[in-house]
Amino acid sequence: MTNLLPDFSTLTLDQIEADILAGMEEQRAQWEEVATNPEAPTVANTLVALDESGARLDRAGAIFWTLASSIGGDELDRLQEKLVPLLTEHSNTYLLDERLYRRFLELSDPDPQTQWEIAEQIRAFEQHGIACPDKEQLRRLNVRIAELETEVDQRISKQLEETGLSVTDEAELAGLDEATRAGYRRDHDWFIRCRNFSTQLDQSVLEEPRVRRALLEVSVTRGRTGATDTRALIVELTQLRSERAHLLGFPDHATVVMQGETIPGPDAAQDLLVEVGRAARARVDEDAQKLRQLCPDLEAADWPFYENQLRAQELGFDAESLRPYLELNRILTDGVFYAANRLYGITLTERPDLRGWHEDVRVWEVKEEDGTALGLFLGDYFTRPGKSGGAWMSELQEAHPASGQLPIITNDANFTKPAPGQPLLLTWDDVETLFHEFGHALHGFFSDTKYRDSAGTNVPRDFVELPSQLNEMWAFHPEVLSRYARHYQTGEPLPADLLAAVVGSKSFGQGFATLEYVEAALIDQAWHREGTLPTEADQVPTFEVEALERLDLWHDLVPPRYRSTYFAHTFAGGYDAGYYAYMWAETLAAEVEEWFRAQPNGGLTREAGEKLRRELLSRGNSRPPLDSFRAVTGKDASAQSVLRRRGLV
Ligand SMILES: [Zn+2]
Repeated sequence: MTNLLPDFSTLTLDQIEADILAGMEEQRAQWEEVATNPEAPTVANTLVALDESGARLDRAGAIFWTLASSIGGDELDRLQEKLVPLLTEHSNTYLLDERLYRRFLELSDPDPQTQWEIAEQIRAFEQHGIACPDKEQLRRLNVRIAELETEVDQRISKQLEETGLSVTDEAELAGLDEATRAGYRRDHDWFIRCRNFSTQLDQSVLEEPRVRRALLEVSVTRGRTGATDTRALIVELTQLRSERAHLLGFPDHATVVMQGETIPGPDAAQDLLVEVGRAARARVDEDAQKLRQLCPDLEAADWPFYENQLRAQELGFDAESLRPYLELNRILTDGVFYAANRLYGITLTERPDLRGWHEDVRVWEVKEEDGTALGLFLGDYFTRPGKSGGAWMSELQEAHPASGQLPIITNDANFTKPAPGQPLLLTWDDVETLFHEFGHALHGFFSDTKYRDSAGTNVPRDFVELPSQLNEMWAFHPEVLSRYARHYQTGEPLPADLLAAVVGSKSFGQGFATLEYVEAALIDQAWHREGTLPTEADQVPTFEVEALERLDLWHDLVPPRYRSTYFAHTFAGGYDAGYYAYMWAETLAAEVEEWFRAQPNGGLTREAGEKLRRELLSRGNSRPPLDSFRAVTGKDASAQSVLRRRGLV
């Protein structure tokens, strides 16, 4: 399997660029061959031929995107600026080719998987404007929108490098542990660098209220001035997305986006968010009363600090006391990989001889229970300048069992790299992140679809978070938890009372966490529904606040998880009008989770794992995804399942 992994040590950006350019040309020739085929359209000469086209581009593109997000930096930024308009134009060439569209219209097939693929292709053509009266204008809009998204993406990456609080008096760092301080140390000050969310992790431990407030302030106001100002870009971008929706014959961008999704439409998204948001707000107000007992003049910046104290009071532990029991390697081997072994029989063996794109990247060989190769798994866990924020899964190569192609799948995170020889001790949130991203990885590894187009995580984006959110449940399973949560020095298991507290903590703090998410998701919807959009940069912050106030969901104590000026999901592309998708997918994940819990041993069995793999994880988009969901649970999802999962009922 070693020959599958690209040799990053010899790869140059020039070569990647050349491969992408040649790959596009190659694929356009393949499309042209299908479009001009004089024979009547058949599944083989149209659907299969198109599905198999573009292998070179896929491979080079996957390498490029992996480097652009995991390495970043000026050179890759410049290449991205150059390639994105070309790639957009490339995909337009396909989606606006009426000859191909008409060939699909003539196809039908008795095989349900093939029939569904035909329907999905036709839907994609129609969603992207095959019937649009002014295709030239559409092309111009598509190119400009992609340029703006790239620019926003790069400014937000720069914000992540630059945004933070400079502290010159060490006394102001009270509450931060030595390792964290050392990480922030610069020549003449300490620089508390902001993570991508509005509310900062360090607010939960910084003892000086002034410092907490200053930190939150720099966080929520980023992107409003200077070279990383994104406001004007956002104004133009949302206007153009709206214009394009009208050109396509839809009322707004949200409606266009939801065409291929599993949610019925924008109203359903808004209803779900508002229902969950109101339940969350009620919990926030209850929690705020408790926090005011600890801090009468409570502000948003103080919430995490006092929530931490309240957690200690109510659950008997504070977040920091858990850390010695949450060491990265142990969590991976005895937690994330162990749970996957119990459910699916797979094993992961580290291959220190294999190299990724950076010395910190680790490579594992993945095998089925019977020893059959399943692919390679790469982990790139440490933060560094230039790397995108947050955590994600990506694929260097997709699974396609029919042709013997094995997947190469990556998980990225942004943990602060410890000093040499020191263990990396994580927070509870980080643990859930590791399980979450590996859930995406499993979706990729188990893919077994006839067509590449519908493989693995190529499902609607409001479905793609189901396997990942579901996989978080195993972090809490007592058998898994007692295995990985061990003291990094003594190997002692997490004491029983702390363990019980962790299990019980799942619903703690969910009012705040849910509301900050719902607020961001509704801001994303507001920018993409019918109505009046801002035309001036300085209207951006007010627009968000007013949108939430109209729904009675603006809350002074709960900053939205992202304000627009650093909301990469919605303005850098990928989750535009689609940030709701996490919540919709969670309604589905919550139902599947309840199904697991009803099985023997809380679902941690090969039998339950196989059912999920067979009916859902292996299916990709080879049938309507909600059919896969129903095949496991036997029912439909509702907001109530999320409220139960989050302990908000
Ligand atoms: Zn995810």
